[in-house]
Parts: sequence; structure tokens; C-alpha cells
Amino acid sequence: MKALVYHGPRNVSVDNVADARIEKPTDVLVRITSTNICGSDLHMYEGRTDMEHGRVLGHENLGEVIEIGEGVDRVKVGDRVALPFNIGCGFCANCERGLSAFCLTTADRSKIPNMAGAAYGFADMGPYNGGQAEFLRVPYGDYNCLVLPEDAEEKERDYVMLSDIFPTGWHSTRLANLTPGDSVVIYGSGPVGLMATLSARIQGASQIFVVDHNTDRLKLAQKLGATPVIEDEGREVEQILQATRGQGTDCGCECIGYQCHTPKGQEVPNLVMNSLVNAVKFTGTIGVVGVFVPQDPGAADKLAKNGEIAFDFGKFWFKGQKIGTGQCNVKAYNRKLMQLIHHGNANPSAIISHELSLTEAPKGYKNFDARVDGWHKVVLHPTAA
Ligand SMILES: [Zn+2]
Ligand SMILES: [Zn+2]
Repeated sequence: MKALVYHGPRNVSVDNVADARIEKPTDVLVRITSTNICGSDLHMYEGRTDMEHGRVLGHENLGEVIEIGEGVDRVKVGDRVALPFNIGCGFCANCERGLSAFCLTTADRSKIPNMAGAAYGFADMGPYNGGQAEFLRVPYGDYNCLVLPEDAEEKERDYVMLSDIFPTGWHSTRLANLTPGDSVVIYGSGPVGLMATLSARIQGASQIFVVDHNTDRLKLAQKLGATPVIEDEGREVEQILQATRGQGTDCGCECIGYQCHTPKGQEVPNLVMNSLVNAVKFTGTIGVVGVFVPQDPGAADKLAKNGEIAFDFGKFWFKGQKIGTGQCNVKAYNRKLMQLIHHGNANPSAIISHELSLTEAPKGYKNFDARVDGWHKVVLHPTAA
């Protein structure tokens, strides 16, 4: 089959690789019709992880079930399914509690002995190949497949966002404990920040500020109902305080991650976290879904190499703030978010800028990585819908 393979920093190509196939009775085999390039793919693309050369990328996958293992009961051949980027088992102590991003069964323990969590085509998250390919093996298919309703093909561009960024944006607002009427500041207007904006709007936020230095992306945030704020190395906080009677917002969302940088491109790993402490009110809550990593050998400064940041903990404590972190447990949200799409109450496809064939994937990576204006979200179509 054809698949997008990682060969090293900024070096990916579409190669012929061994076909994905059923390996265990609980597996499902999916023909991929839509798969997104994600901002977190870029950490791997840029060589800022220990992603193995030769692995297939892609964790935002949707397609048609073409084969099921003999232990699969619920999912049927022909079903259209959206696949959470997390690979969960459904029966471990964490999956039982809805924490499918921290599955204890599917995690790869070879490098980190107490590791929890697995994903498709993702550094350190197991040997699983990604779905930027014609076919994908889905472990524990009954648990991991979200079977889509009859408008699956018609709304495929919306439903493919259920694999990661719509639930992840939603998760940032839940970690931030957003309630109706709250004001919220969202750092980052990449796809996840835009989905956090959509999620905050659906949940009845009274004011939504989105901070970025990319004015092209901010325009899209504004279209989704946000007040755009130009990021200015922390000085933008003043504007947010002024707009909230000097108090700061009720809650905040971090949708950027460890590679946050100044408008000039200099990476300052603590910039956004400390700005959030300043922009959120006393007793407010901050939800952090941008990717942070325990080790970052490619980082510029010594702290960041060990996954550490100079965090304003004193101010954070003094303000009585709370913080929630981590990857999204997609299964905790994807069924309800699917209903919002199905009934016309959410249109996450609004952020799609490009739809490409799999062969064009390297071009998609290049432009998305360079943050070329207009390249907001790229969807690949490895096989026909
Ligand atoms: Zn993603
Ligand atoms: Zn599990």
C-alpha cells in the first residue's frame, strides 16, 4: 500500500510499504478516505522527537471498515468510522474511567517503564503505524471505532475532525472548567485553538479572546466568534485585563505547546504559560492541551532540554489558580460532538484550507510547517470516499 513515511527531519515521502492487515482477532482494518495533517505531526516532521525513521505518520483518521477480526462483534464491514487518535483497550483501569489517552494496555513500555497511552504514528506512543496511508490497522476495533451516522459521506470533512482536534479543543475548555457566561483566553489560533474557540462558543462563553501573532489565522478565529489579540511577548495581557475590568478572564486554554515562540521566531518555552497566569483571574483555571514533552534534546536552552520551563509558580499559587493538563481522551467526547455535527450545530470543517491526495502529502507538510498564509488545515484523501 502507499503511505506517508518519515525518513528524518523535514524528510517525508510517499512510499510503497507492507499492507496494513488484521494481526489480532480484535483488530479492524479500515480503508482511509480522509486523514489530516496535525500540528503535532510537525514536532515529528521537524525532527524534534525520537520518531523512528520508516514509520508511517497520521493520527487523525476516518474511513470505511473493510475487514474485521473474528473477535469483533459490534463493528461491521462497510461501517464508516472516525478513529480517535488514542488507541485504548477499553478494559484497563484508566480506560474504565474514560481516560483513554492513558491506556495501560496499549502503551509501549520499552523506553518508559510506567508509560500510559498510545496513538497511531506518534513518537514514543507505541509501534502503531499511522493512517496517512491507504489502509490502517485499528486495535480493539469495537472500542476504538466511532460508527458514523447515515450522513457520514456528506459530512466527512466535519467528522474527520472528531479524531483529534475538535475533541482536543473541547478538552482544553473542560480542563479549564469553562461554564456558560465565562470569559476565556485561548493562546494559539492553529487548528486546536480554533476548535477551542468553536467549543467555547457552543458552551456559552461570554467573551473569547484568541491570542496569536499570525494575523492570517487570527482572522479565522474572528470568523468563529473570537476577539483577536496580537501576541506581543506577554504585553498583550494588558489588553485582556482592560477588556475584563482589570480582573483577567475566568479561564484560559493553552493550545500551542512547547515550541511556542516570539513573533521573530525565537522559541521561549515558558512564554505562553506565564502569560496565561497573568491573563487569567485569581482562582481561574488553565487547561493545557498543547504538546509538552519530558525530553527535548533539540531545544535551545538547558531547562527545555529536560522538558522544564521557568514557570511563575509563585504568582500561580498566589492567585489560587488551577491547572489541567494532558492529551485529550477523545472517546470521552467524540460521540456527543458527532451529534452536534449530525444535527447541524457544529461545523469544524470551517477551518479546512486544503484537500490533497496522498501523493501531495509532502507538499502539505512543507507548507503547513512553514506556516504559509492560508495553510490552516490540510486533509489528505488516500482513497476515494
Ligand atoms: Zn492531531
Ligand atoms: Zn486501556
